[in-house]
Amino acid sequence: MSLVREVETLLAPGGRLSQRWPRYEERTVQRELALDIARVVEQGGVLLAEAPTGVGKSLAYLLPAVLHARGGERRVVVATCTRSLQDQLFERDLPALLEAVDLRLPCARLKGKQNYLCPRALQQTDGRGAEEDETLDELRRWAAADEEGDLDRFPASDPEAMRRLRGRLGADPHACTMLTCRKGRECYWVRARRAAAQARVVIVNHALLAISGEVEGLLPDFDVLVVDEAHRLEGVLLGQLEVAVSRNRVEEVLRLVGTGRRRGNRAAAPRGNPAGLLARVRGFALPLFTAGKGSASAEREELDALAARVAHARGDADRFFEAIEPRGERHEVYGARERYRSALELIGRDLAPLEAILSHCNRFARSLHLLAEDLDSLRAGETADDLVGELEQAGGRFAQLGADLGHLAEATHRDWVYWRSAGGRGVELHGAPVSVGDHARRLVIGRARSAFLTSATLSTGGDFGFLAERLGLGESRGLPYETASYPSPFPLARQMKVFVYEGGGSEAEAVSEVVAALALATGRNQLVLFTAHERLRRVRERLLSSLEASGPLLAQEWDGPASLLAERFRLERGAVLLGVQSLWEGVDFPGEALEILVVAKLPFSVPDEPLVEARGDRLREQGLDPFQHDAVPEAVLRFRQGVGRLIRRSDDRGVLVVCDPRLVTASYRRAFLESLPVAPERTRDARALAAGAARFLGVPAGAAETVAPLSPPTPGAPADPGSVEWP
Ligand code: SF4
Repeated sequence: MSLVREVETLLAPGGRLSQRWPRYEERTVQRELALDIARVVEQGGVLLAEAPTGVGKSLAYLLPAVLHARGGERRVVVATCTRSLQDQLFERDLPALLEAVDLRLPCARLKGKQNYLCPRALQQTDGRGAEEDETLDELRRWAAADEEGDLDRFPASDPEAMRRLRGRLGADPHACTMLTCRKGRECYWVRARRAAAQARVVIVNHALLAISGEVEGLLPDFDVLVVDEAHRLEGVLLGQLEVAVSRNRVEEVLRLVGTGRRRGNRAAAPRGNPAGLLARVRGFALPLFTAGKGSASAEREELDALAARVAHARGDADRFFEAIEPRGERHEVYGARERYRSALELIGRDLAPLEAILSHCNRFARSLHLLAEDLDSLRAGETADDLVGELEQAGGRFAQLGADLGHLAEATHRDWVYWRSAGGRGVELHGAPVSVGDHARRLVIGRARSAFLTSATLSTGGDFGFLAERLGLGESRGLPYETASYPSPFPLARQMKVFVYEGGGSEAEAVSEVVAALALATGRNQLVLFTAHERLRRVRERLLSSLEASGPLLAQEWDGPASLLAERFRLERGAVLLGVQSLWEGVDFPGEALEILVVAKLPFSVPDEPLVEARGDRLREQGLDPFQHDAVPEAVLRFRQGVGRLIRRSDDRGVLVVCDPRLVTASYRRAFLESLPVAPERTRDARALAAGAARFLGVPAGAAETVAPLSPPTPGAPADPGSVEWP
């Protein structure tokens, strides 16, 4: 039986799934999607499928995937965007499906290296305080019985202590390898890769998929690839390929080697030991060298030289980063980011500070490697082996730092964009490919015979060209694709009401007026989405006093990270959550958790942001208008993602308020309006808007609380920034 036919039979009313799952309901759109996927899996090719919330995408792709994977030497890789979705697929959806269709298949989940407990780090880490000590004991007991060592799954009784410890306990994503570590057999990361190599279905996340093409053997070969939440793949690829060097990064590696001054004589001192690696080599290894070779004078001299070099390296790093600080004015919203196109533009003619740091990196890399080789040759037991591994890792980090800094300072890759930035983390150098399309096509999507990419938002006005271009797909590039869009199973036109608020003198004024009026009239949960932290701050300031008598006001970063605030928001009623980037997508607020969504501004990228500018240059070279071909489709996709937070279930009702009149007045408005299920109502009256929203949501009269009048703007506060925006 063909795969398509088999999928059809299993999903049909009275088929196996309905027999096994009492609550199973055949969904027409889900069936169509599953059949389309089965066809692509059978015939090969790339399918971009836009499937809205509620279709039941996971079952639609998992069913053909597992049926395909059971035969011959086939392997399916499924990539989800987040680790929590990865866990959900692996622990819940996949086992339930395999059981329902009576299949036994080796399946594995593989995450990024740093998510796995590193046994060597666990052995070397001491807690800083009683809470961390207790958490470490708990972790040791858990690790002794756990097969996977996946730190996401460790049920810490003190999550805060675990959060502090986590960075010290995970496998080092940059430097540790089987060659530099003797704990291969105990290593969870090694085990996880081995399990993936033997599995027929491997569940990964985008980040791991993104780097898998460049890291030999990270993922075994596969013939079918499924990418869920595919609209986020480009951003993840970009994040993985971006190279950055900061003063902090230099300091991190210098701290790792330490000053060489001894604090105790333990080779197995904690990683965070301020005395560092050089001191431990001195304390532990010098006696071994003396015993083994009769003298350790060469090693002692080398350690002294390296220790002296640490201080020089710090000074040179300070000079270098001071010299490259962006000279342009710091934008009040976006900080200082300055693009540069050559080494001359970055550092001028004085190359001395750069050359000094590169020479330090070289010297540390080489010397640490030689020390490791010397120590290794003594064959002095397990502790010495561990120290050898640490020396190799530290050497590797210096080598990588030198290579990255050299690349960023030269700025010679034609297809890359380079910039320096100055913000809360100090001065940083960055470089990233202008487009990740080549990488995505060659090393990710093109690796599979059949690739299926899905999300609720892949197109703008039904056109998939923008996203396909960003992912390097297309006939002309040798990787043609087909597309499919599926209708929402929800009656969205009845579930949603949309307003455009055209009142308010500035963005902050408009948003705070609307939010306060809505809180007063409805008392329902509101999510307010911003495009920049500074804009969020202005509105927060205004709302702090006006919402006093209402529900809680939660602001991303001020009151906690997005994930924690999202959890809290779900449990609150009458709350206002102010969010930026990460809350535009990937968060689920079903039912009463979210009934009002306020979009402060259409989510355009900043045109003079280096990457956006570089993409614009490219398009101009091709005779295309960057605004029409890049800015608008990108903003529409982001807008659709944001709006998608509102209706998550068939019985949800929600009000969308867009505080940006451009939605109904700009020349490009159609692209945005087409993504809404109903036409918006325009108003300049915040109270009338709020009353309309309350009626739509069925709020009983007088149910909401009293809200104090709006606070005036802070005297002297600058007007909303707008100078660098698209029209
Ligand atoms: S290879 Fe060694 S250092 Fe790396 S994660 Fe495994 S145990 Fe830790």
